[in-house]
Amino acid sequence: MDFYLLAFMLIILVGSVLVYIYYLKEKKEQLDSIRKGFCPQCKQADIELTDKRSGGCSGPQMLTFECLSCGYVNSFAVDSSNSSCGTGGCH
Ligand SMILES: [Zn+2]
Repeated sequence: MDFYLLAFMLIILVGSVLVYIYYLKEKKEQLDSIRKGFCPQCKQADIELTDKRSGGCSGPQMLTFECLSCGYVNSFAVDSSNSSCGTGGCH
């Protein structure tokens, strides 16, 4: 019987999906904190936008934030197609 193998694969699959959901949730919470101006790691207001890359108006932007206090660095893909474009903010 391959039942145990099947069960094992199912556990791996469910586990990886849960990890992915947790990762996205964690990422969103960090981005929320950064948008308020605070570092998600040390809670200091020393977060700074260090890099900004985008493929134009339609695609998502890659924003890289760095904390000047603890050295926290993280990149976020932010969908910029809704608000910033169309108001003259996009060049
Ligand atoms: Zn920090």
